[in-house]
Amino acid sequence: MGDIAIIGGGPAGLTAAIALARRGVRSTVFEREAHPDRMPRFNPNRSYPIDLTGHGLKAVRYIDAVEHFDTHMTAFHGIRNGGGVRDPWPEPGWIGSRGDIMRALMSVAEQRHRDMIDFVFDSDVSSVDVHVGEVAGQRFDLLVGSDGAGSAVRGAMLDQVDGFTVETSAVPNYGLILELDQVGDRLDKHCLNGLGFSPLTLAAVINDDEKPDGVRWICVVGVKKPITFTSPGQATTWLRKNTPRVLDLTSDRAVAEFSRREGVHLGQRLTCSSLYGGRAVLLGDAAAAFPPVGQGGNAALESAMVLDQCLVSGPLDTAGVRYDAAWKPEADAVSWIGGQVRYQNPRMLVRALVSGAFGINVFKQAKSSTRSYSDVRHAARRLGPIWA
Ligand SMILES: Cc1cc2nc3c(=O)[nH]c(=O)nc-3n(C[C@H](O)[C@H](O)[C@H](O)COP(=O)(O)OP(=O)(O)OC[C@H]3O[C@@H](n4cnc5c(N)ncnc54)[C@H](O)[C@@H]3O)c2cc1C
Repeated sequence: MGDIAIIGGGPAGLTAAIALARRGVRSTVFEREAHPDRMPRFNPNRSYPIDLTGHGLKAVRYIDAVEHFDTHMTAFHGIRNGGGVRDPWPEPGWIGSRGDIMRALMSVAEQRHRDMIDFVFDSDVSSVDVHVGEVAGQRFDLLVGSDGAGSAVRGAMLDQVDGFTVETSAVPNYGLILELDQVGDRLDKHCLNGLGFSPLTLAAVINDDEKPDGVRWICVVGVKKPITFTSPGQATTWLRKNTPRVLDLTSDRAVAEFSRREGVHLGQRLTCSSLYGGRAVLLGDAAAAFPPVGQGGNAALESAMVLDQCLVSGPLDTAGVRYDAAWKPEADAVSWIGGQVRYQNPRMLVRALVSGAFGINVFKQAKSSTRSYSDVRHAARRLGPIWA
């Protein structure tokens, strides 16, 4: 297979390394951060719950890691809105933070494939030659760029590969992250709990061993413009007016922290003209970052599975072509789906109602393990201008 460098040991990069190791192929993973076990479990500005459903499940099964995800994440049973589970999730699925996903994948890598994966932590890759395959002064036959939305590998491809282009766009979506520390048993830890529609307010758990019941509740409020508060009192007033249920589920201390936090811009989208160039290929957010619609982690894991399948199916030097043919339509479709989310936009509700009447629920169908993202996009576009 040759020497393979994986730049970025996030969900996509680790899945790729494990898939290769399962076939007896060695790889070197360069990761800017420390080992996930040495990273703080909770980052108040960045720890949001991610649900891994159909597309992620396919990849988790592909690398035979279901039991590790059962251990490190919380079983996902669907979306709950008030009383009942509105959209039950009947297959295996999980909810937790990106850190929980990382710990699940690292446990697979370290327990089963210690000899096959060389980890280089604390290694910020800044110079990449995609034509000769050089990273950090070493030469490789394949460079897997899985270094996230700000990818250095993608940047090198832009500089070095003729005709390679990147298109970016943004929608006005921002996420306000609030910890709910007074939930008790009032929400279902196996679900994404809807607490409000406009602004969209969702609460779910991430794992935290230091908490008595082993989880922290995190709530993300989706708004259409950045909001800053000048005092905890102002934040309380805003929450009471806009999404009052959260106030019953949290403390004054958590609201005070929330009032000092900046909203995260969740609306960026990035589309590459091709997912390979020279000796490099792009996975996950490096290939296609898009606004959250519950699919970023899922698509990252699936892209790594697809790359591995493409590596098996022919010579290494043409693997990028096969991967591009297989994954770019999916990356483009999920990016399109992500771009359809507009927080606090009444048109979204109308569109959901009209589409529902035709049996189309794009965001729900995007979770399916049996439908591709491109199929979901195609079905929605048949409804004409409302999904144009
Ligand atoms: C608020 C929010 C909510 C989200 N909710 C969901 C959700 O509900 N469901 C879902 O599926 N997804 C969700 N996502 C998206 C999800 O977190 C990402 O899509 C996913 O983590 C992408 O994985 P990745 O491996 O491609 O990239 P990343 O997770 O970004 O990992 C990239 C890795 O590369 C490393 N790296 C970067 N640059 C370098 C360098 N130069 N050298 C070496 N290492 C480098 C980084 O340290 C990192 O470890 C959400 C994202 C946000 C921001």
